[in-house]
Amino acid sequence: MFKSVLIANRGEIACRISRTAKRLGLRCIAVFSDADERALHVREADEAIRIGPAEASLSYLAIEKIIEAARLAGAECIHPGYGFLSENAEFAEACAVAQIAFVGPPPQAIRAMGLKDRAKALMEKANVPVVPGYHGEMQDSKFLKQKAYEIGYPVLIKAAAGGGGKGMRRVNRHADFDDALQGARREAKSSFGNERVLIEKYVTHPRHIEFQIFADRSGRTIHLGERDCSLQRRHQKIMEESPAPGMNAQLRKVIGDAAVAAAQAAGYLGAGTVEFIADGSDGLRADRFWFMEMNTRLQVEHPVTEAVTGFDLVEWQFRIAAGESLPVHQVRFEGHAVEARIYAEDPARGFLPSTGRLIEAKFPASPGVRVDTGVEAGSEITPYYDPMMAKLIVYGKTREEAIAGLSTALEETIVVGPQSNVGFLSAVCRLDAFRKGDLETGLVDDNLAQLVPPIDRFDRAAAALGAEKLLQRKQSKLADFLEETDATVSPWDASDAFQLSGTRRLSLPIVVDGETAIAEVDYGAGSPAVSVDGIYSAKDALAVWGPDAIYVLRLGRQTKVSSRGAGSGEVAGRDRTGVLCAPMHGKLLELRVKEGDKVAAGQPIAIIEAMKMEHTLLAPFEGFISELPLAAGAQVPEGAIIARVLPGPRIDH
Ligand code: ADP
Repeated sequence: MFKSVLIANRGEIACRISRTAKRLGLRCIAVFSDADERALHVREADEAIRIGPAEASLSYLAIEKIIEAARLAGAECIHPGYGFLSENAEFAEACAVAQIAFVGPPPQAIRAMGLKDRAKALMEKANVPVVPGYHGEMQDSKFLKQKAYEIGYPVLIKAAAGGGGKGMRRVNRHADFDDALQGARREAKSSFGNERVLIEKYVTHPRHIEFQIFADRSGRTIHLGERDCSLQRRHQKIMEESPAPGMNAQLRKVIGDAAVAAAQAAGYLGAGTVEFIADGSDGLRADRFWFMEMNTRLQVEHPVTEAVTGFDLVEWQFRIAAGESLPVHQVRFEGHAVEARIYAEDPARGFLPSTGRLIEAKFPASPGVRVDTGVEAGSEITPYYDPMMAKLIVYGKTREEAIAGLSTALEETIVVGPQSNVGFLSAVCRLDAFRKGDLETGLVDDNLAQLVPPIDRFDRAAAALGAEKLLQRKQSKLADFLEETDATVSPWDASDAFQLSGTRRLSLPIVVDGETAIAEVDYGAGSPAVSVDGIYSAKDALAVWGPDAIYVLRLGRQTKVSSRGAGSGEVAGRDRTGVLCAPMHGKLLELRVKEGDKVAAGQPIAIIEAMKMEHTLLAPFEGFISELPLAAGAQVPEGAIIARVLPGPRIDH
């Protein structure tokens, strides 16, 4: 076994790998960018080496810097985790050249599976059923359109080099094909630098079922059962479980054997995942499984497999990389496990990533609940990396027990500061179809209105509670307040003065999630009753003080409330004023207009990249661009003015 490892990753997966590495007696070397200097994965390591600035391309993706760090620290092996360089064949090669063991498959295996079209061609040769479609070399638009017609609509256009659901377009009608192809190519080119596509039949009632496989140096390959990852939002996984509902031992053997054959065809070593798409319209059937792709690394959702098999997959990875044989011949499955991914994002605002300091981060510590996290209270969620903060993995004897446990665990989870998807995940747990095990990849998107109830401006009951707490705090500081110079100009101070003057009712200006509002305070017989728009303060909520505001957690959603004293106006106007602001810290990727340009309502003005996602700012109304203060390429803080649109025709002076 190795004596030391450099973990070429960050966040929860870096922490998770170091946990096993330490148990095995390895010295853990972390790497970090400037944005992660105080991150949990750095503090949990035995040693940590700075590898560059916050931008991933200059740090976590910089091959030479990581190899150099490994040399410097004398690391015997490198574990890449998932994401970043984990599926980069050149990185695996660079490790070999530097004579450092790469905890993963050989470069040829990574390459063989790196492009979806090539991988499918290889699978066909190995007699593994693949999704019907076209995955050849020809890329002529007319030819592809003809192929789509022959395959039969709906079809899915996929980027050959794709990942993370990017460069993918579903096409329902022949007439829509050209536009979709263009869009897929454009996205593929900008995301992967390769515009090649393949076309697949769009599987009806699709279920994503993947098999965990392991291979050792002798070529022995086994599978560790399946994971159902059908709960997705826009083709991205949000919850995973094992076993897959409806799976049985016989079917598992047939599909598991196909997964093993797939890995062997690629000359595999170590941990990998073979992803299948199944048509679940008539239960699970062996002749309705098709190979989709293989991920040549550890998956985010590997813990559900660990929970039902009792194995530590990271330990297996280390042992196999060190030359040991697979530790078992037979894998037994017991119970059921579900995983939920907790993201810093705001479901109510289209799942926009949310940044900032974590004021509170409490995860449940109950039996049967495993928490894999890379953050804690005080951690900074930056726009540079994936916004996943933690994973909850809940084990139960039955599926019902696991889901009930997950529901409770989510209720016990407290994340304050950035918005989180905790309430959304709780709502998913309550979905009838999910509880019944009636899964398909469109389930979440189809039920989005129910899962993310539209909020009318903001949660008034939460706002009222926030105002009530603010008032209590102010009143307890009465003496301080009377000394303030502007004590007479803010109604907040009048609230302190009421006891002197006998005022019965007060209107207090507050700021709720960036919007201004009025809290009404009624001094009846007992303690003051606070309401916003006639809704009284919530009793079923948790209030947490932050440095500049109070955060109210209610029904899984966070509402930020601060007092608005004289002159402390917060947040420039949004769309109504024609001012387009950066929704979060990020990079101004592209400006689609010039100063003075006429624009139509809804026309794209600028594209901002934050947390690995692109966000387009649209013109709120017809008019012209009166201001464009920043140039493309600029780093922008949240709230920065990107453009100003003035209504009506332009008047030249
Ligand atoms: P990526 O590598 O970008 O994640 P995948 O090929 O793994 O792309 O597909 C991601 C998801 O897209 C799948 O989990 C599934 O939900 C959906 N999908 C992919 N191929 C098909 C298909 N042929 N029919 C229906 N849905 C599909």
